[in-house]
Amino acid sequence: MEYEAVIGLEVHAQVLTDSKMFCGCSADYANAAPNTHVCPVCLGLPGSLPVINQRAVEMIAMTGLALKCRINHDTFFDRKNYFYVDLPSSYQRSQYDHPICVGGTLEIDLANGPKHIGITRAHMEEDTGKLTHVDGGSLVDYNRSGVPLMEIVSEPDIASPEEAKLYCAKMRQLLVWIGVNSGNLDEGAMRFDVNVSIRPKGTETFGTKIEIKNLNSIRSVERALIYEIERQTKVLSEGGSLQQETRGWDEDKGVTLGQRSKEFAHDYRYFPDPDLPPLAIDEPWVAERRAELPELPDARRQRFEAEYSLSAQDALLLTSERAVADYFEAAVAADREHAPKSVANWITGELFRLLNDGGETIGAAGARLRPEFIGELLGLLKAATINGTTAKQVFEESFRAGTPPAAIVDAKGLRQISDSGAVLDFARQAVEANPKVVGDYRSGKTQAIKFLVGQVMKLSKGQANPQIAEQALHEVLDA
Ligand code: ADP
Ligand code: ZN
Ligand code: MG
Repeated sequence: MEYEAVIGLEVHAQVLTDSKMFCGCSADYANAAPNTHVCPVCLGLPGSLPVINQRAVEMIAMTGLALKCRINHDTFFDRKNYFYVDLPSSYQRSQYDHPICVGGTLEIDLANGPKHIGITRAHMEEDTGKLTHVDGGSLVDYNRSGVPLMEIVSEPDIASPEEAKLYCAKMRQLLVWIGVNSGNLDEGAMRFDVNVSIRPKGTETFGTKIEIKNLNSIRSVERALIYEIERQTKVLSEGGSLQQETRGWDEDKGVTLGQRSKEFAHDYRYFPDPDLPPLAIDEPWVAERRAELPELPDARRQRFEAEYSLSAQDALLLTSERAVADYFEAAVAADREHAPKSVANWITGELFRLLNDGGETIGAAGARLRPEFIGELLGLLKAATINGTTAKQVFEESFRAGTPPAAIVDAKGLRQISDSGAVLDFARQAVEANPKVVGDYRSGKTQAIKFLVGQVMKLSKGQANPQIAEQALHEVLDA
């Protein structure tokens, strides 16, 4: 029998606020010594009282709006009760049946078109501390305890590990784009729980759901799902049955392992947190949050295609990050003379290559290679002041040093040699030095001239105008 997968994802994303969810401790703990960002509130000490971080609520609402969710006007925090060493209060402040955001969607791009993945809810909660297991024991660091977290739960609309990967990547892009998450998965800024079941292909009823918790990279999400779907298929194909359970992912062995039988909501004894007031959200507040959102990636990509006549691929690349999209538009705005497509080519080609090689983002690089330099370079090319090869060299130099292209061309004497007398000399030398190629050319292999043009370019140290070089060669050869 053939089976198909049904997948739903829970994404935990840290919210990029200055302070923690319920206290004034700094939420930026990445480089802090253990247990230095702590206070009675985030240590769960008796007598301490939490205060809701308004900015965190705003950012989570913005996320909900970006995901086309409805914002719940009556929302409050619940206590989710369980004991764990990294949870000093023995309950997590979270949300249960009154989450702040409900019923949205995220679009992913598949080969045959876009697919909408339903968003069930996005709620507010606090992060836990962090355990490190060492020889002979475990160490706990409470710096992360109380850092604002949002949990975004999808509908079981995802049909394959590939779709899950696209969903995670798109979610990450969106959260970073609107400025609510750092996107630093290496630092744990996003973590994923995946829920997966299989069912006979073409049937409606869901199979038994297995949850794999705490995956910390998009690659692990994909790998764990591939493994788990295979495992479930094998169990069912051999006539076995599956129990609803929570499994872990062993990154090194590449397997999922049973951890515990599934816990249910009622096990957590959720109840409204008596220390925190319910939030009464009104429409003007929601409108303010909406107004805070920038143009979103999908909308901007579509606008790029329409407004600048870019290919879908170019528009996609140029909207991979907001800073890249801003850079492109700044370059286009500074240069009314050249086609946006030419500007796009330099950014997606040379600039992306240089950024990649140096492991750099556009932020710092764009302060050196300023957007207006792109148009300047295109101008030099159009006026035939430099040729394509020199342009790449100038671009790279400009990228490294932050010097405007025209200044580099002047300082280094890179102007293209369009003086036909000088090029004619190089052409004579090339013809003299390559009798065999000249013979080929004369016997009808006209393509041989390309090699001779190359030789002229070489002799001129790349500065000859290639069109003039070819003319000069014809002149010499046909004389
Ligand atoms: P629980 O109460 O166990 O947390 P939820 O109904 O809250 O379950 O769903 C958690 C996640 O599991 C959601 O992302 C949801 O889309 C997904 N899910 C629900 N049922 C299934 C299923 N049968 N197979 C795969 N995923 C599922
Ligand atoms: Zn604190
Ligand atoms: Mg759940």
